[in-house]
Amino acid sequence: MGFTAEKLEEEKVFKDPVHRYIHVRDKLIWDLIGTKEFQRLRRIRQLGTSYLTFHGAEHSRFNHSLGVYEIVRRIAEVFKNRPHWREEDRLLCLTAALLHDIGHGPFSHSFEKVFHLDHEVWSRRIILGDTEVNQVLKAVDSSFPQRVADVIEKTDENKLIVSLISSQVDADRMDYLLRDAYYTGVSYGQFDMERILRVMRPTDDQVVIKHSGMHAVEHYIMSRYQMYWQVYFHPVTRSAEVILTKVLLRAKELYEKGYPFQHPPLLLQSLFREKVTLDEYLQLDESIVLYYFHMWQHEEDEILKDLANRFMNRRLFQYVEINTELQMKQWMELSRLFEQIGLAPEYYLVVDSSSDLPYDFYRPGEEEERLPIHLLMPGGELQELSRQSDIVESISGKKRTDHKLYFPKDLLDNAREHEREKKRILDILYGKG
Ligand code: CA
Repeated sequence: MGFTAEKLEEEKVFKDPVHRYIHVRDKLIWDLIGTKEFQRLRRIRQLGTSYLTFHGAEHSRFNHSLGVYEIVRRIAEVFKNRPHWREEDRLLCLTAALLHDIGHGPFSHSFEKVFHLDHEVWSRRIILGDTEVNQVLKAVDSSFPQRVADVIEKTDENKLIVSLISSQVDADRMDYLLRDAYYTGVSYGQFDMERILRVMRPTDDQVVIKHSGMHAVEHYIMSRYQMYWQVYFHPVTRSAEVILTKVLLRAKELYEKGYPFQHPPLLLQSLFREKVTLDEYLQLDESIVLYYFHMWQHEEDEILKDLANRFMNRRLFQYVEINTELQMKQWMELSRLFEQIGLAPEYYLVVDSSSDLPYDFYRPGEEEERLPIHLLMPGGELQELSRQSDIVESISGKKRTDHKLYFPKDLLDNAREHEREKKRILDILYGKG
């Protein structure tokens, strides 16, 4: 079924550095932006700890969500009156685009890992639970919240709509590549989105790209490849992420042991217990987290104090590249040496690995299950992109992983009574051991 909603008397616009203007004509969209759950996204950064590497990267999930909405709005204009496109699906697409990240919490990447959270589950709870967002959605139709949740979870029966929000070339990715490139100040993320939008075509079950637009899509895929290695997996960002994760783990451990915090983390307790209600979840944002980190710099516990101080003042860990996983024997020796000089290895010796597939085929059950990109050939048949593009073929399905070992070199340098251990540690880390 289709959904319709009231129009605003006058169009509203947001000024946006990436898309110039974001246009809102539907009252529903305007009302959703005004809900407190959506406003909360202003206090959650899009790129987590990247601002410690690229100081411009302070943009929020609020900016990005508006951007994804705007891209889908423009796609819907391109699709208007084309076969396979139903104008009554427009509102559902716009809403799902706007709300696709509504379930994200502060520093999602680390928080999800440490506290076993899943932002997709929280999106669902926010959309279907007792929230302002749910109130606004229900006013359209009683079945509307469920449909929006289904599209975001990629379970909706209308695959064309799902592919707009979630596929290899979807509005989410196009916005974050352009936006993250803009705010980090790097040029790798640029590509010609206008061109891609013009060559997108709706089919029964997915969005496809007109054959003549292949080179614009190649450029987009290469941008994505570059951004991953130059921005998203930047080793300094990962160092900050490692420290953030360790602060949370230390605080959780202390909480479990009944440690008397000078500044009890009242708003984080439910996370430590891993029993979080919707209201508790919605109270969390990055300003709350940074408040506790700020206060913890003055705790008695040496580890918590040091780690919180490192995060707040950007005293990050150094790293060395390790080609293969550090051999077990060396790992054990390093841990023992760290202990001998008084550095708890579980907090101060950290292996971090990353990998990404810049463009992958659809492989059920593995990694990401995003639809591959199909080109619409002149004869009307569909061809998977890497069969037509040598550039894309060359990076398809190739996995690159890298492993880095993070540690506080400044603390090692200061361990003056342990010259022998120190020397041995440095020999192992810098490859003489
Ligand atoms: Ca997103």
